Amino acid sequence: MTIHSSESQDSRTSSNFLRDIIAEDVCTKKYGDAVIQTRFPPEPNGYLHVGHAKAICINFILADEFGGKTNLRFDDTNPEKEEQEYVDSIQRDVRWLGFEWERLCYASDYFGQLYEWALQLIRAGKAYVDDLSAEEIRQHRGTLTEPGKESPFRNRAIAENLDLFQRMKAGEFPDGSRVLRAKIDMASPNLNMRDPVMYRILHATHHRTGDEWCIYPMYDYAHGQSDSVERVTHSMCSLEFADHQPLYRWFIENLGIFPSQQIEFDRLSVTYTLLSKRKLLQLVQEKRVSGWDDPRMPTLSGMRRRGFTPEALRAFVLTAGVSRTNGIVDIEMLEHFQRDDLNRRARRAMAVLRPLKLVIDNYPEGQQEFVEVANNPEDPTAGTRQVPFSREIYIEQDDFREVPPPKYYRLSPGKEVRLRNAYFITAQSVIKDATGSIVEVHCTYDPASRGGNSPDGRKVKSTIHWVSTAHAISAEIRLYDKLFSTPDPGDVPEGGSFLDNLNPASLEILADAKLEPSLAEAQAGDQFQFERVGYFCVDPDSSEIRKVFNRTLPLKDSWAKIEKKAGA
Ligand code: ATP
Ligand code: MG
Repeated sequence: MTIHSSESQDSRTSSNFLRDIIAEDVCTKKYGDAVIQTRFPPEPNGYLHVGHAKAICINFILADEFGGKTNLRFDDTNPEKEEQEYVDSIQRDVRWLGFEWERLCYASDYFGQLYEWALQLIRAGKAYVDDLSAEEIRQHRGTLTEPGKESPFRNRAIAENLDLFQRMKAGEFPDGSRVLRAKIDMASPNLNMRDPVMYRILHATHHRTGDEWCIYPMYDYAHGQSDSVERVTHSMCSLEFADHQPLYRWFIENLGIFPSQQIEFDRLSVTYTLLSKRKLLQLVQEKRVSGWDDPRMPTLSGMRRRGFTPEALRAFVLTAGVSRTNGIVDIEMLEHFQRDDLNRRARRAMAVLRPLKLVIDNYPEGQQEFVEVANNPEDPTAGTRQVPFSREIYIEQDDFREVPPPKYYRLSPGKEVRLRNAYFITAQSVIKDATGSIVEVHCTYDPASRGGNSPDGRKVKSTIHWVSTAHAISAEIRLYDKLFSTPDPGDVPEGGSFLDNLNPASLEILADAKLEPSLAEAQAGDQFQFERVGYFCVDPDSSEIRKVFNRTLPLKDSWAKIEKKAGA
């Protein structure tokens, strides 16, 4: 396991009912001297999302705290929806988050054992083959207020059940014609206990076992027994499985196998975000996003591409904590942890996203110089670099107003501002094109203010960033915003779809941003703070000659708020 010691220290000190349960079991020797064993059990039917990051952290970190182990187990019992691509991406993402599993397991490794156990339950009179259709089984199940009705096949002789189940396995029957059910209690108040289906017939090719099987176990029949095979002591999962717990125990008790125990914790939900593989798959399939790793997706691969870091994600999920009731976490909290991490680590650079040319009339033509700039003021060990400066530079269009609105302290005619790390300049005039748009701002500079220091104690109200035109590199910038425009995008009126809540402005592409020349060396994945603008990382779409940068997050922009208020 590779967790930073300071992080596991944090999680150790904060209280957590899961930890209390494990501590108690260790104390009472519930499992004798067996090591604490947990597992993370994704179904390989999609990419992992930030909700899975919570389950991963809980399972890996708690096991580690007690000197235990964690398996990565693919819950691959649904061949129609599962693929090797997902298996590979899940392994990549768990490792990226910083965890290494003890064993790599697959529920499909246990298909033989699960089949044997099914025969055992049939022989004990605790399972039967049912010829009812799926629809009839649903009708017989009853409701929360009415008991279910027993199937006419419920009391088949054991020998007949054995024969039929073996022939189901042998492929004699078509899909959907028969199922194997546990014989429990059709009047149970818990619907999961009303003779749940254990096996269904499915002539589908499995991504690992190929065509070896044409019957597949249901989640409820596979999960607890897989835990038991791996001697999982604490099977921690999200709350929606709470109603399944009695069934989880029923199988283990009736088979008399290793007593794994299931414990539920709250599901992570984040505002403006959907965490459901099914819906995320729909976004991918309908090309609403560029793929599972689109930087707007809440998948771990999307967030990685966007520039989120494992350190920030772990800190976020650990701080969000665990409880026994579902809640919703503000996306601002996640963003806060990410800014905090990048503020400490990201190298600073100057980049002008929407360039406006500025000419310093009294700066000698043909002259250039280098100004020394700190790579990261938060980290003295990050060193400094030399940034070229010359007579013509780019500044942000937003940093100049010909007619400044109230409280606008940036550049405007007659006003003096500081060019970051360079000089004080005063705007003198503008040149416009035929349509009246400003194409060039002309300024004068004060040579005595080199380094951006006031020569005589006079103050400027604003510091702006810049890039020398002769030295700038051009790049594409992708500005991402929230994928959904409503805090609870899954909440849709009848007849509506979560797709109606997509934010139409979640991606803006700036084709010709101007960057300081040191960024020519940046490699895919490298992260930067573009001063005054935000956090950015290099996208893998970049080529040697043209870089593409993704905006991870903007810096907090207090001006935007003032402007909005003023406009409102
Ligand atoms: P989804 O609903 O997105 O399809 P899932 O629960 O079907 O997710 P699995 O692959 O079955 O996905 O999940 C693997 C593990 O991750 C399970 O133990 C589940 O409890 C946990 N998990 C999934 N989503 C969340 C979440 N939002 N918060 C916490 N744990 C989660
Ligand atoms: Mg699931």
